[in-house]
Amino acid sequence: MKDCIFCKIINKEIPNHTIYEDNHSLAFLDIFPHAKGHAVVIPKIHAETIFDLNEELFKELSVAIKKTMNRIEEVLHPDGYNVGWNHEKAGGQVVPHVHVHIMPRWEGDGGGSQHSVIKNPGSMTVDEVAKLFS
Ligand code: AMP
Ligand code: ZN
Repeated sequence: MKDCIFCKIINKEIPNHTIYEDNHSLAFLDIFPHAKGHAVVIPKIHAETIFDLNEELFKELSVAIKKTMNRIEEVLHPDGYNVGWNHEKAGGQVVPHVHVHIMPRWEGDGGGSQHSVIKNPGSMTVDEVAKLFS
């Protein structure tokens, strides 16, 4: 998409530090890293969220995530990772092109876990929520 910053990176209109690339996906270092080696993995076609990717492309993206982690593992040897994506504005998404954050973690780095993203379960019990799915 013309005005999408990540499409511009794919089209080499703006520079990036690529750490993994295949036919379907590109992984590059985040320009404002939250951890050493913080990278984002994106599909090479413009899609705003994973709901706009078909299963095949989502599988390709998943493989690219794993291969990018393999690469980070080889080069930086972190103690752990947090991997995930901010999905739409309520989920913290700023760039409207699917991107999966890979944040390498080190013992004692002061960071939290996925559980630190939110602690606001609302007023329904887990049983009540489960009934909505049945
Ligand atoms: P999100 O809040 O999930 O949409 O995160 C978007 C991420 O893209 C942020 O972590 C930004 O630092 C990163 N970002 C934005 N522009 C660039 C760029 N030109 N190169 C690398 N990373 C970028
Ligand atoms: Zn795009």
